[in-house]
Amino acid sequence: MKISKNQDYEIIIEDLTQNGEGVGRIDGYALFVKDTVIGDRVIARVTKANKNYGYGRLMEIIEPSPDRVMPPCPAARACGGCTLMAMSYASQLEFKRKLIRGNLARIGGLTEIEVPPVIGMDKPYRYRNKAQFPVGSDRDGNIVIGFYAGRTHSIIPCDDCLIGDSVNAGILAEIKSHMLKYKIKPYDELSHTGLIRHVLIRVGFATGEVMVCLVINGEALPASDELVKALQNLPLPDDRKIASVMLNLNRESTNVILGTECRLLWGAPYIEDFIGKIKYRISPLSFYQVNPVQTRKLYGLALDFAELTGNETVWDLYCGIGTISLFLAQNARKVYGVEIVPQAIEDARRNAAINGITNVEFFTGRAEEILPDFYARESARAGAPMTADVIVVDPPRKGCAETLLATMVKMQPARIVYVSCDSATLARDLKYLTQNGYEVKKVQGVDMFGMTGHVETVCLLSKLHADQHIGV
Ligand code: SAH
Repeated sequence: MKISKNQDYEIIIEDLTQNGEGVGRIDGYALFVKDTVIGDRVIARVTKANKNYGYGRLMEIIEPSPDRVMPPCPAARACGGCTLMAMSYASQLEFKRKLIRGNLARIGGLTEIEVPPVIGMDKPYRYRNKAQFPVGSDRDGNIVIGFYAGRTHSIIPCDDCLIGDSVNAGILAEIKSHMLKYKIKPYDELSHTGLIRHVLIRVGFATGEVMVCLVINGEALPASDELVKALQNLPLPDDRKIASVMLNLNRESTNVILGTECRLLWGAPYIEDFIGKIKYRISPLSFYQVNPVQTRKLYGLALDFAELTGNETVWDLYCGIGTISLFLAQNARKVYGVEIVPQAIEDARRNAAINGITNVEFFTGRAEEILPDFYARESARAGAPMTADVIVVDPPRKGCAETLLATMVKMQPARIVYVSCDSATLARDLKYLTQNGYEVKKVQGVDMFGMTGHVETVCLLSKLHADQHIGV
C-alpha cells in the first residue's frame, strides 16, 4: 500500500517513543503521531511520508485508549513540554518500566533481570523547582509570557505551568503589570531589541525560599525598587517567601537563556535548599536537580545500593555539584568526585564546605581521562593496581566512554552503582560490564520527570568471584 502525504488513515496506536509520539501501523508502515496514547484508535493525516515510516497529525480520536485522561493543563497540546500528559500517571509509569525492560533486553542482552515498577511521585504535578518563562509580544503588540510551542520560538501565553511551582503565576502577573506601568518592552528575538527576555524562578522546596531573576537585554531595570517592593508584598502560597531578586544580563543575540553576569536587586544572591540533610546554595547560574523530592529517593537508592559501612573509598564520576558525592561521604572513608564543568566543581566544593564535609575531593575534567590517568599514576607510585571499593557513575545521556568502563573494571570495585537518564546507553554499558566480570544485581526506575518521556534508572552491579568469572 502506498502511503501518501495529506491522506487520512485510521490506525491503532501500539507503542510510544521516548519523546511521547504514538506509533501505529498501516500494513506494516510505521506512522508516528503526536498527541496520541497507546490503545487509541485514531484518524491521522500524513504530514511526511518517508519510504518505511512517516509522520501524521492527529485529526480525530475514534476510540480513546482506556489509559487516556483529559490533560489538566490547557496548554498541553501546544506546549512541547508534557508529552505524556494525556496518559494516566499509572500508565506513564508502566510505559517507563517497559522502556527500561525493553532496552535492557534488546541492547544489553539482559533478559532475566527483573525490572520492578518505577518509583513514582506522590503527586505528579508541581514538582519542578525551576521555571524559565520567555517574555515577548504577540502580533498586536501585547506582552506574552509563557512557553515556546514545541520545537518553535513562538510563545504560547501560559501564566501557570502545572508541573511548575504554585508561586509562578502570581510572580509573572506582577512582572507583567510592572512592565505595563513603566512601559518596559519585552525582548524581540528578530530585531534584538526590547529589554526583558526571560523570567527565571527557582524555589527551595525544603526552605520555601524563592528567587526571581529577570534576564534582560541591557544593564538595568527601570523602577527596579518598585518591582522589588511589589514582589515583597505579594502574598505567596505554601509558606513561600521571596529571598532573592536578581537580574541576569544577556545582551547576546543567542538562544542561550542566561548570560554570565548577574546583579543583585534585593536579598541574597542565592537561595538555599536541602536534599536529605545536605544543604545546597543555588544561584541563578548553578545547576541543581529540578525535582528534589524524587532526587532524594533516587540518590537514597544509590546510597543503599553502595552498601557503605564508613571504611570505603568511593569514586563518584560525573558528579555535577556533588549531590551524590556528599550523600555518600556521610558513610564513606573518602569520596572522589569527577566532573567536566568547572563551575559545577566550584559549587560542589562550596556545598561540601557549607555542610562541613571534609572527606571529599573533587577533580575537574573528563571522567574518561581523569580516572585512567589517576589509575596509571597511582598504580605506578604504589607498585600495585589502584583499587576502589565502590564506583558510582551518573553520566549524561550518551553514557560512559568505553575507556572509562575499562578503567573501572581494572580497579575491581566490589560494587558499581550506575545512575542513568537514558536506559538505552545504560543497557549498552551494562553489556560491557557484564562481559567483563560484573553481574547486574538490581535495577530500579525512578520517575523524576512525570508527564514527560524521561525516566531515571539506578542499577547495582557486583563483582563476580574468581570462580564465577568467565570471559576476561
Ligand atoms: N549527579 C550529578 C548530576 C549528574 S548529570 C548531580 O547531582 O549534580 C551528568 C553530569 O556529567 C553533568 O554535570 C555534566 O556536566 C557531566 N559530564 C558530562 N560529560 C562528562 C565527562 N566526559 N566527564 C565528566 N563529567 C561529564
